[in-house]
Parts: sequence; structure tokens; C-alpha cells
Amino acid sequence: MSDLPMPEVRLIDNCLQEHWPDAQCELLAADPFEFLVAVICSAQTSDTRVNQVMASLQEHLCGIEAYATIALPQLERLLSRLPFYRAKARSIHECARVILQQHQGVMPRDAQALCQLPGVGAKTAAVVLANRLQVPAIAVDSHVQRCSQRLGLSRQQRPSAIEADLRRRFPAHRWTQLCHQLIRLGREYCRPQRPKCSSCPLSQACPRYGVTKPR
Ligand code: SF4
Repeated sequence: MSDLPMPEVRLIDNCLQEHWPDAQCELLAADPFEFLVAVICSAQTSDTRVNQVMASLQEHLCGIEAYATIALPQLERLLSRLPFYRAKARSIHECARVILQQHQGVMPRDAQALCQLPGVGAKTAAVVLANRLQVPAIAVDSHVQRCSQRLGLSRQQRPSAIEADLRRRFPAHRWTQLCHQLIRLGREYCRPQRPKCSSCPLSQACPRYGVTKPR
């Protein structure tokens, strides 16, 4: 398969912007550190569940110091409605300590420093940078990965390579919302199994329309 021509990329871009003009991050948080907490909490669960847990965290904790000094078992209890809550509590607790000790309590603003934080990988760092620190970044989750491949925006498998393809094809000012639009596409139409191609708003632009088989 040859590289997707730019007119096709522009058609995909236009369809995404037309159909999901308001796509944005659904996680609620008061400041960048709380947002990092929400993103760590969001692994393997819904944004709705995370927002419920964040609301109860906000009743008990305010600011990085509170997250760094709370007893770990208490933090675990506050997160206990989430999958993997013990690991998430440990990461959040350690992140707060490291940010206080090594960054004077200020969230680092680059991917490399964020990825040094406990439990923070490239995807989490990109979500935080793009959505709370106004640094253009592309976070490749499973929806972004699958939709990018099916739309022909990338032929790669590794998230870092898919990210590089998307960076090359779209201007930086589109990166943050592009990810949210691909996530909406993946959730609403381009599901892993039985994609809803016949009603998909990207059907006119998608090289996989009608040929994507259920996996
Ligand atoms: S047309 Fe089908 S394969 Fe293409 S993006 Fe839409 S749902 Fe996915």
C-alpha cells in the first residue's frame, strides 16, 4: 500500500472536524497535578468512573503536598472503586513525592521529565502535555492506533511510530483534538469488532470502508 496522499488526509481531517467539532478530554481536574492523577486513574476504566473517584478525592485532598503525605492505605481506600487501585495509588503517591522533591512542586513540562515519574509512560505524558500544559503532543491509545491504521494514516504497529506518522501528516495545532476525535470515532463507529462502516461519518474517506472484517 502506498503512502496516503495529502488530499485524502485533508478529507479525513475535514470529516473529523465536521462530525466531532467539540471533541475534548472528558476528565475533570482542577490543576495539572490533579489531571495527572486522573490520567493515571483512567487506565482500564471509563472517564465517568474516574470523574466520580476524582470528585471524592477532591473532598479529601487538595494540592500535591496532600497527595505526598497521605498514608498509602488511605489513598488506596479512596481509589478502591478503580481497577488496579493499589498500583495506581502507589504511582500517584510517588509522583507527588518526586514532583515535590525534584521539581519544587511544579509539574514538569516536557515528555522526558514526565516519563521519569513513577507509573508515567509516553501515552500518559502526552495526554498531560496536550490537555493541561498547552504543549502539542499526540497520545496514541488503542482507539487512535486502530483508527489511524484503518484510515490509512499509518501502517505502523508501534504507538511511537504511529505518533510519528500523525505528527508528519497533521499540523501541531490539530494534534490534541485529533486524538479526541479519533477516540470518539473508535468508540462510536470504528470498534475493534464489527465496525459500523455503513453509518460511519468517515466512510467516504476510509480505504477500509466495507472491507474491514470483524477481528
Ligand atoms: S468506514 Fe469502517 S473501517 Fe473506516 S473508519 Fe469508519 S468504521 Fe472504521
